[in-house]
Amino acid sequence: MKVNEHIAQAKGQTLISFEVLPPLKGGGMKDIFNMLDPLMEFKPPFIDVTYHREEIVFNQRESGYYEKISIKKRPGTVGICASIMHKYKVDAVPHLICGGFNIQETEDALIDLAFLGINNVLALRGDARNFEDKFIPEKGGHKYAVDLVRQMANMNRGKYLDANLVNAEPTEFCIGVAGYPEKHFEAPNFDTDLKYLKEKIDAGADYIVTQMFYDNEKYFQFVDKCRAIGIEVPIIPGLKPITKKYQLNSIPRKFFVNLPEEFVSEMEKADTKEAIRELGIEWCIKQSKELKERGAPVLHYYTMGDTDTILRIVRAIS
Ligand code: FAD
Repeated sequence: MKVNEHIAQAKGQTLISFEVLPPLKGGGMKDIFNMLDPLMEFKPPFIDVTYHREEIVFNQRESGYYEKISIKKRPGTVGICASIMHKYKVDAVPHLICGGFNIQETEDALIDLAFLGINNVLALRGDARNFEDKFIPEKGGHKYAVDLVRQMANMNRGKYLDANLVNAEPTEFCIGVAGYPEKHFEAPNFDTDLKYLKEKIDAGADYIVTQMFYDNEKYFQFVDKCRAIGIEVPIIPGLKPITKKYQLNSIPRKFFVNLPEEFVSEMEKADTKEAIRELGIEWCIKQSKELKERGAPVLHYYTMGDTDTILRIVRAIS
């Protein structure tokens, strides 16, 4: 089933979903299953699997020189999705990015997904690679997520890249896109970012998943602003609990989000690892309860491999 169908079927009940990362190369499906098995008690209708581009690393050779190599540290997104669907009989949502693919490769990747019966995709642009200071599209690839959404929407109408193809089978993709309650970091201002978000919806996206946030007002204001400019699709809040002190700096640095003063000052007063974790869990429970009460369609948890934390939070609100 499609994500938007799950939401419609829930008739206003808040659903629970999770995002998992592929294991580092060398890991196996047991890493994913060990993490997901306990979370299945919440009957998530869908599980997202992130996509990770190649990175450049430098390996020192015996001679002392460094060798520059390009590797994918977390491959396997599509295989993991297929395995999750097979084992748990739930829908899986692979993330697909523009970076690293030209449009032909994108089309082929989408055909693979369609043949596997994977009809939900989160369409993203991707970030700059670790050795570049801005996102550079692949030669002949998409520059923005909206271009990927357009390609998928065309395939849903049976329109592939080869204009000579006649009677091509339409795909059935349900298309998710990313939204930023605190603005995407590259956008010159909030309204411009929203204008481009609306472009993604107008191009055929069916729902939005938000970047993590720690102040629910940011989400509620974001939803209001989206509705005011005619974005009517479901807006799924993304939640990532903070459980370690260093994350007070690393999360804002990496994801360009603000942490509320009240939360930060409580965390700064806590002096043991356990106390910090408890405060982070409590904060996420408080956020989750309010979002649920105020009718969020789904609570989407970024698990980051920390099943115990997510179990605590979701049990507390179930
Ligand atoms: P876009 O929608 O293309 O927007 C990127 C920037 O360009 C924004 O500033 C926007 O305002 C601007 N813009 C958009 N359209 C136009 C236009 N037509 N003209 C000018 N400017 C424009 N990254 C991964 O690599 N793998 C993942 O699995 C992954 N999962 C994610 C899941 C979620 C829920 C979120 C929120 C992010 C995820 N990301 C992932 C990160 C994402 O790739 C980055 O945030 C990236 O920088 C932007 O992606 P986007 O799809 O929002 O881009």
